[in-house]
Amino acid sequence: MNKNKMGLMGLCLFLIGLLPVNVALAAQPDCAEVRAKYQCPVEKKKITLSFDDGVADVTPKVLDVLKREKIEGTFFILGNKVDCSLYTNDCKTNPQSEQCQSFQLCQQRRQTLSRIKNEGHMIGSHSYEHDRHTAIPLAMAERNIQKSRQILAPFFTTEPAIFRLPHGDGWFNQKTSPQVMEALKRNKFEHIGWEMTAFDWNPKYQDGDKILDNVMNQMCSGKGRVGVVLFHDGVFENEHIGRTFTADNLARWIPSMRCAADFVPLNYFKKNLRVK
Ligand SMILES: [Zn+2]
Repeated sequence: MNKNKMGLMGLCLFLIGLLPVNVALAAQPDCAEVRAKYQCPVEKKKITLSFDDGVADVTPKVLDVLKREKIEGTFFILGNKVDCSLYTNDCKTNPQSEQCQSFQLCQQRRQTLSRIKNEGHMIGSHSYEHDRHTAIPLAMAERNIQKSRQILAPFFTTEPAIFRLPHGDGWFNQKTSPQVMEALKRNKFEHIGWEMTAFDWNPKYQDGDKILDNVMNQMCSGKGRVGVVLFHDGVFENEHIGRTFTADNLARWIPSMRCAADFVPLNYFKKNLRVK
């Protein structure tokens, strides 16, 4: 090795030494400790992470984490967040207008949606509007379902296309209002629920590691559940804001989850889904 190369190497080592410890080492949890804390069995569970209410401005951050951790997730997208026909594209004549700004943000969200697909995640519909579909007239619910297909069709990753009703309607009102689930079938969607929920929509858990506790307790305790975990990368009330607490902390929680579970794609559980 010549002197120049050695000098360069020395400089690199010196610079690495300057990095904060948490960046250089990406602090890994003590898995024995994690498993003991949540009373996890030795044998690992299988889970898949799913995210509702996007595309939002924090979605790229979630994608960065999943990419780094080599995890294939599933995203249930609200059609109205990527329907740019809702805005007038007057950017050429009036670049400062609210319509132009909204149009451009919508275009960015569509690009993020393409990125979700390109990075190998599953994409499903979370309907067009975030309505409680069992509480609105069936015709309106079915219009929502169909409109979401029109907008999201180019991005679907499976055959049949997957769908998750907003507000947990697929769980809570399935028996009392079976007509909504029938409408989904009529429109050739397969409904996907969840086995575990992070409860990250609830502000009372957006503190410390309470969301991780929710997932780990459900995953490890009792019957030892496996399957789909519900997270959120968006907030349906405001199309431009994301579920920042989840996006900010996911990178820290995933290594702890990995102590007790392997991450698998959705079709590991849903064998009938043909990945396109
Ligand atoms: Zn939702």
